Amino acid sequence: MDAAFFVSWVHEAARQIEAHAAKLGELDRAIGDGDHGSNLVRGFSAAVGALEQQPHETPDSVLGTLGKSLVSKTGGASGPLYGTAFRRAGRTLGDAPEVDTGAVGAALRAALEGVRQLGSAEAGDKTMIDALAPAVDAYEQAVARGAGVAEAARDAAEAAEKGAEATVPMRARKGRASYLGDRSIGHQDPGATSTALILRALADVAAGETP
Ligand code: ADP
Ligand code: MG
Repeated sequence: MDAAFFVSWVHEAARQIEAHAAKLGELDRAIGDGDHGSNLVRGFSAAVGALEQQPHETPDSVLGTLGKSLVSKTGGASGPLYGTAFRRAGRTLGDAPEVDTGAVGAALRAALEGVRQLGSAEAGDKTMIDALAPAVDAYEQAVARGAGVAEAARDAAEAAEKGAEATVPMRARKGRASYLGDRSIGHQDPGATSTALILRALADVAAGETP
């Protein structure tokens, strides 16, 4: 996977977030302040714009640009969290112009650790961790059995989607939704939902399914 692959991922993630922005907003309206969709549309479109400013030769350069745009333009709790995740992921890949399936797994693992460190949320707190952690596990399991990036990313996306659905009965213990206490129960977490979209975008690009 080279820089162009990662640029395609950013484009596809931006497209899927745009397509589901209203739904992300609705989910956030139920247990937060309703801005999650518009926050991410702003952040990802800024990233697409920033990537067009100059050519990128390494995956790290693409992910670093994405992370910087998300930190500075997304806002909310999710901007710094996603921004940190992508910057950490990029740094793990170093200055290699191309990375293999295992390296992408290490980058996803680093993204998860970045979110954990910054937000100090754990599994079951009803956050993006509940989608990202099972996705990283599923990706690594696929790599361990010798799967290629398409299969590993597909497993990760499926695990993230299941993880996002599993946030419905959870009580939020981090972020704005935690102010609601028991009233956060019965709603799907917006951040876990957007994480699943971002990983679905990775799977689609890895499968060569997107134009
Ligand atoms: P805000 O809550 O500031 O309005 P967003 O609406 O953009 O920000 O993002 C909300 C999402 O951020 C939540 O659904 C949750 O998944 C995620 N989130 C909030 N706090 C944390 C945290 N400490 N750790 C991980 N994810 C978090
Ligand atoms: Mg919000």
